[in-house]
Amino acid sequence: MSIGVLALQGGVREHASAFADLGEPVTEVRRPDDLDGLTGLVVPGGESTTLSLLLGSAGLAGPLAEALDAGLPAFGTCAGMILLATTVLDGRDDQLNFGVIDLTIRRNGYGRQVASFEGTVDVPVLGDEPLPAVFIRAPVVEAAGPGVEVLATLPGEGGAPDRPVVCRQGTVLVASFHPELTADRRLQRLFVEMMKEERR
Ligand code: GLN
Repeated sequence: MSIGVLALQGGVREHASAFADLGEPVTEVRRPDDLDGLTGLVVPGGESTTLSLLLGSAGLAGPLAEALDAGLPAFGTCAGMILLATTVLDGRDDQLNFGVIDLTIRRNGYGRQVASFEGTVDVPVLGDEPLPAVFIRAPVVEAAGPGVEVLATLPGEGGAPDRPVVCRQGTVLVASFHPELTADRRLQRLFVEMMKEERR
């Protein structure tokens, strides 16, 4: 298994140590060559507009789009989820998104008071124990296409519909929070399992 972490911005070290906890060392991806031979890629949080610019200046935008279109498994958290989605609302006109998971996402879509919060989410596929979740200026999933499995939601406020916070489509897994900042490794383990299934 050869897991890469996009290392342009965000919690690269935290993601790396989360996978190291599972016995899966990662490599840092900064240049197009670093994509060669990967079995999966982690796309960390940060700021999707900045990540988008950095992907361009690193020459990674095209090669990464090709790798994702060819089926490279990906795990996107927060801004990483925004980059992997099909439709981004409240983004910059020129911001990139790779469109490999059929989600409509609104950047910074949680109301001001709850823009950043810590809590737990129920993720039934990971077992009964709720998963700790740290949200930081998190994106809101406003719509999920028919091919998307919604693995966890948060209750909508004031009668609003529940909001998906963990989703999967094929070998793409996304979370609107930061699983690398807490000690629970079940989501990372799920991604490892997804990559193993893919290789069978
Ligand atoms: N608000 C950020 C964005 O739009 C995402 C925040 C995060 O990754 N913690 O890209």
